[in-house]
Amino acid sequence: MENQVKCPRYVDYVRECSFHIDTTSRDFNTTIRFCVSENYINCPFFRYLDKPKAYCPHFVDCDLCKYFKNKDFDGFISLAERWCLTSDFINCARYVRGLNGPVPDNLYPDGTELK
Ligand code: SF4
Ligand code: SF4
Repeated sequence: MENQVKCPRYVDYVRECSFHIDTTSRDFNTTIRFCVSENYINCPFFRYLDKPKAYCPHFVDCDLCKYFKNKDFDGFISLAERWCLTSDFINCARYVRGLNGPVPDNLYPDGTELK
């Protein structure tokens, strides 16, 4: 296993991402495909820790991110690529709504509501 690890954030059986992001056992199983391949550069956690030019300040604690991380990791990847780890986070409906008050759990960044 150790010889297969590619991500530089995975050192001596410890994933540095776990200190910054609430990774659960489910995250471990779904993200290991990134850790052991050159595709680690596309892992949302790696991209976040690598300090992209722009990213949402709520990326770590956003309830929608937490939901997708646990339920639909591919959806989380799309969410991060489209909104959270880009300068467009300022147009995210959750980000905008959060500036003035509570954010509904099911509000998606494009303003639609998840069912
Ligand atoms: S690929 Fe992602 S989940 Fe795996 S160690 Fe790197 S940052 Fe963490
Ligand atoms: S961009 Fe929107 S969905 Fe992404 S972390 Fe920020 S508030 Fe949450």
